[in-house]
Amino acid sequence: MDRHRLPSCLGWGVFWGAAAWSAYAVVEFVFSSVVFRITRPYALFPGWHWHLTGMLILAYLAIGPALGALGGLGAYLLRDKISDEADDARVLESAATLPLALMMMANGIALMFSETGFSGHWQALAAAIFAVLLVAGSKRIGLLANAWVISGVILGLGQEIELLHLDVAWQLGAAMKGIIGIAALIVVAMALAVFAGRFLVGRAVHIGAASIAAGILLLAVAQVEASRGPASVHAASGALSTSSRPNVVLIVMDTVRADHLSVYGYEHDTTPNLKALARDSVAYTNAISASDITLTSHASIFTGMYPSWHSAYCQPPEAAYGRRLSPKYPTVAELMQKSGYETLGVAANLYLREDFGLDRGFDQFHIPRPVPLLPDDARWLLRHDVRRWISYTGDTAQFDRLFSLSEDVNRDLFGLMEHRGHPDAPFFVFLNYMDAHFPYVPPAPYNSRFPGRHPRTTGDDLGVQQYALSNGKEAPGYVEHCVSQYDGGIAYEDEQIGHVVQWLKSHDAYDNTMIVIASDHGEGFGERHRVEHANGPYQSLLHVVLMVKYPKSTLKGSEAGLVSLTDVAPTILSAAGVAVPPTMQGHDLAAGVGLRQVYSETFACPVIRPVECRDGCATTSLLSWPYKYIASNEHGGKYELFDLSKDPNEKRNLLIREQEQSAAMRERLDKWPRPVQTREAKRLDLDKEKGLRDLGYAIGK
Ligand SMILES: [Zn+2]
Repeated sequence: MDRHRLPSCLGWGVFWGAAAWSAYAVVEFVFSSVVFRITRPYALFPGWHWHLTGMLILAYLAIGPALGALGGLGAYLLRDKISDEADDARVLESAATLPLALMMMANGIALMFSETGFSGHWQALAAAIFAVLLVAGSKRIGLLANAWVISGVILGLGQEIELLHLDVAWQLGAAMKGIIGIAALIVVAMALAVFAGRFLVGRAVHIGAASIAAGILLLAVAQVEASRGPASVHAASGALSTSSRPNVVLIVMDTVRADHLSVYGYEHDTTPNLKALARDSVAYTNAISASDITLTSHASIFTGMYPSWHSAYCQPPEAAYGRRLSPKYPTVAELMQKSGYETLGVAANLYLREDFGLDRGFDQFHIPRPVPLLPDDARWLLRHDVRRWISYTGDTAQFDRLFSLSEDVNRDLFGLMEHRGHPDAPFFVFLNYMDAHFPYVPPAPYNSRFPGRHPRTTGDDLGVQQYALSNGKEAPGYVEHCVSQYDGGIAYEDEQIGHVVQWLKSHDAYDNTMIVIASDHGEGFGERHRVEHANGPYQSLLHVVLMVKYPKSTLKGSEAGLVSLTDVAPTILSAAGVAVPPTMQGHDLAAGVGLRQVYSETFACPVIRPVECRDGCATTSLLSWPYKYIASNEHGGKYELFDLSKDPNEKRNLLIREQEQSAAMRERLDKWPRPVQTREAKRLDLDKEKGLRDLGYAIGK
């Protein structure tokens, strides 16, 4: 190694650059994926995760040598300014490692001036200290300025800050242990680096070579794991159930607004399979959700009750992410289980986890969920940068995936069906699909099925644009991109529903199976400054999908009368011959729809809130066709009346113009009985907030 010769500087720069970025890649993988998996045992490493990890490692192995060569060139140009006594290997290693520290520092500074709400001070400061150590090049610090130590300390500090910043950190059982443990690890690692460095004098090249080998090994593991592919599905042979009682399959398409389904007349053909299923079913074209967020709406679907009664809704500050479903009221799964059904559930949405009580009554309940590639916090800026660079060479949308694909949900179900505990019993199956949920990343070819996609748009871009929209500012391209991908997600789910239908048919179970297709709430694309959901009582968020294929298709056609998702449980129970308990407020739809009014309630949840409702609005609404009346706590009390037959998008508030109607609707809404909240129901269940940031909901700023 000779820093006075250009080829030597460039060559060793490449070597040390590769070593530094390999070390970073491995440490980052450990923190982002391994630590994530340890703290959340339900998280999985699917093949596509490894495929993307392989892309990342490959990118690091390409970037490292390039930046290392630049560092080597810098050392050559400054060769006369460096002390003659300096060790050439240390000079070149430091020069090639410096870009890594500088990039971390730059990211920290950029974060300090961004509007993301994350703090970059600590990252900028720690990286600056390491940069100074690298430039100073003192032998006394041993390996303290080695890429392994730099990466470990900065990502470890990030983990600390992240835990401390979490609103719920003190409620996490392991948070304090984690904070103390990581702090101790950082201190021990730094001390060890100083001491070990003194013993390993002259071994720097070996350490560098080992670093590169570790990076290549991780790449090889990623490639092998990615090539495995998903296990093939062997659906159970023979009839799925020998019982003469009808089976029930309830599928919730999470976040799907009714007006984006071609089976309901949407301009793009998003649901060809649902159209086919509709020929044997009743399509309810005016189905209204009881609320606008997964937890609350699913709780209403399962209990047949409105939210104020079942208690599973957001209640900041103690239960910002939602309260547990009251154990007092039976769920459809519990009642089916008691009456002899085998009950199986597979959900992509983490809100359906046991902490919230939504798994009650299921013999088996799974939530297959991937380890995310880009967790939502400030530590992974370098990974975000690298992902952005990769996006100039190919499609990187799947980096933003937070949820399992519907095909993974189906695969899990088919596996459960193959090993049923009670093959003679009829079955009740619940599935939840998340492919139409933010950040809208349907798999190919559905990502290009509908026009409007901006290929290089990332989840980061969408996050920035969402804040703009919610503040009443322009976000050019946001809506068309998101809608194209949202529609693609719906079309992909439609295909997966088609697979379930085909699976039932191929096992002669279709005819005697009740199939209920519903969505839990809709989605906002900038209407009234609303993005995503859990932030309003408007039709974009409450008008949902509901289709029922009754056993033997005893009822068919289209039903335009008002129905509520609270009707789902009574309708299923009635079809299965199970008594509907008096707690259920919904109706058996098979008995007829008729003239009726339906209610909805929304609550202040931790989401991106629109500019007119910054603190979160709680609303109640009453729909009595064609009128919809909304009472909101916005600005201390706001009321709206819409005629949905003439104004489906709720643009003209008729509160003043139709005072008589307004007064009548208000009176009916006021008369709506409210349960008295008991002290017990208000008590907070701390465990349920564990890991909720994984849900993909941004915290309201
Ligand atoms: Zn949902």
